[in-house]
Amino acid sequence: MDKKEYRKNYYDKNREEILKKKKLYREKNREEILEKKKEYYNNNIEKIKEYYNNNIEKIRDYKKEYYNNNIEKIKEKKKEKISCDICNSIVNKRHIRRHQQSKKCLSCR
Ligand SMILES: [Zn+2]
Repeated sequence: MDKKEYRKNYYDKNREEILKKKKLYREKNREEILEKKKEYYNNNIEKIKEYYNNNIEKIRDYKKEYYNNNIEKIKEKKKEKISCDICNSIVNKRHIRRHQQSKKCLSCR
């Protein structure tokens, strides 16, 4: 068995474990990861912009295609309601942040 195969095998066998570890790592290092991302973004902003400009059609197409393929799912998501954990109001999930800035919610704190 070569290395690649071995690794794949290992991964398949320990998938749950690895995913759990990764998640834990991400949770533990959340700030650091965000910071790194920001740094990367700032250091590469020209590159990122260039990529975007060079691929704007592709990106647009991709988004459109994604939207068309997932239109039902997206619609469902848009309608999804959750209860606010501050005031218990039922709020559209998309608007939860806005809701939590509202007088109604602020007055419950
Ligand atoms: Zn609320």
